[in-house]
Amino acid sequence: MNFYSLNKQAPKVSFKDAVIKGIAPDKGLYFPESITPLPASFFENIESLSNTEIAFEAIKQFVSSEIPEDRLKKILSTVLDFDFPVVEINENTATLELFHGPTMAFKDVGARFMANCLGYFSEGEDNEVTVLVATSGDTGGAVANGFLGVKGVKVVILYPSGKVSDIQERQLTTLGQNITALEVDGTFDDCQAMVKNAFLDSELLDKMQLTSANSINVARWLPQLFYFLFAYKEAKSKGKEIVFSVPSGNFGNICAGIMAQRLGMPVKQFVAATNVNDTVPEFMRTQEYSPKPSTATISNAMDVGDPSNFIRIRHLFNDNFSELAKELSSYSFTDEETKVAMLNIYKDSEYIADPHGAVGYLGLKKYQKENPNTYGIFLETAHPVKFLDIVEDTIDVKVAIPSQILNVMNKEKVSHKIKTYNELKEFLVTR
Ligand SMILES: *Cc1c(COP(=O)(O)O)cnc(C)c1O
Repeated sequence: MNFYSLNKQAPKVSFKDAVIKGIAPDKGLYFPESITPLPASFFENIESLSNTEIAFEAIKQFVSSEIPEDRLKKILSTVLDFDFPVVEINENTATLELFHGPTMAFKDVGARFMANCLGYFSEGEDNEVTVLVATSGDTGGAVANGFLGVKGVKVVILYPSGKVSDIQERQLTTLGQNITALEVDGTFDDCQAMVKNAFLDSELLDKMQLTSANSINVARWLPQLFYFLFAYKEAKSKGKEIVFSVPSGNFGNICAGIMAQRLGMPVKQFVAATNVNDTVPEFMRTQEYSPKPSTATISNAMDVGDPSNFIRIRHLFNDNFSELAKELSSYSFTDEETKVAMLNIYKDSEYIADPHGAVGYLGLKKYQKENPNTYGIFLETAHPVKFLDIVEDTIDVKVAIPSQILNVMNKEKVSHKIKTYNELKEFLVTR
């Protein structure tokens, strides 16, 4: 399958080139040339399929012949070797837990899938690829873990100093090997701006093959559609229309959910739940898209003022606002509301939600108020242990620390401090 640039000023490319380039030369995001729905029988019989089989059927049209089917199946079974449980927390409400992977954030699947694809594409190539990625928290750890030891690929991660949690910082600064962490004196937006600068810097691009592992990369973005299919498989027997509420930052995850719907999965509505970084909820209210600098919140992986994947969502609806509004609702919530939700969820059902999941829960409840006869699933995108201080202060519980996390807690942090784009460039060129 070919992918075109949403800016329409660059040539179409194969899946392989879309993965290696990350972003098109005209700075547009890549988008698949066609989306062919899966046969109705796929959804009728989904209960009889394993997660790997579901994923293979869903992704193969996008990867097509560029990775042989056997290899693709092998990649998928490696990537999906943990659970994705749907946990019912009260009547008509369940949470899809996406945090059972190695870094306990939902980004593990996309990061591992991309790493395995790049690893496959770089077999037998002399040119090394450098993956450059900015993180507001969870991306860095998932990417570092997914790419660790992949031959032919170096990873450079930028993160805002003092603005990620201790566990998140350890997950991206303690691995070594082909992974380097750059600690930026600035905000996440500064990190993202530096990464964007690097992709525009022709002098730099002449010297190295750079790619991004943010959800703009199709290999990070597309595999997230599996989650929705896995949840559908579990929730189908409820016999009610399904609503997905997705705690959203760069809007890659929810956009992947809409892709699953385009593959034929029945869904009543998608809810994009945000913290006070409300560019999209404001757009859905006013039809004006006004990006703004991000504000720090307790759900920091969603502190994004200009969500990079929203353009893909608009494109899926041909930029037709009323069509989009039929399928997507979007609401924002304050930290105060989020903490109250965490407390209420715990009181009602003894379920410990992390701040991101709690924002998803709030979005779902707001939608279900008007649409009570639905089965709602909110996505739990991170294990509560990753936001330990906030969770333990808010609900007064002790969260048991899983082994994945214990493993990084006592490792030594290694980072290089930088402040400006020139320092980043210097680092990339001279290292
Ligand atoms: C990245 C992230 C999100 C936001 O996902 P997007 O695809 O960027 O919308 C939500 N929660 C957690 C824990 C994350 O790490």
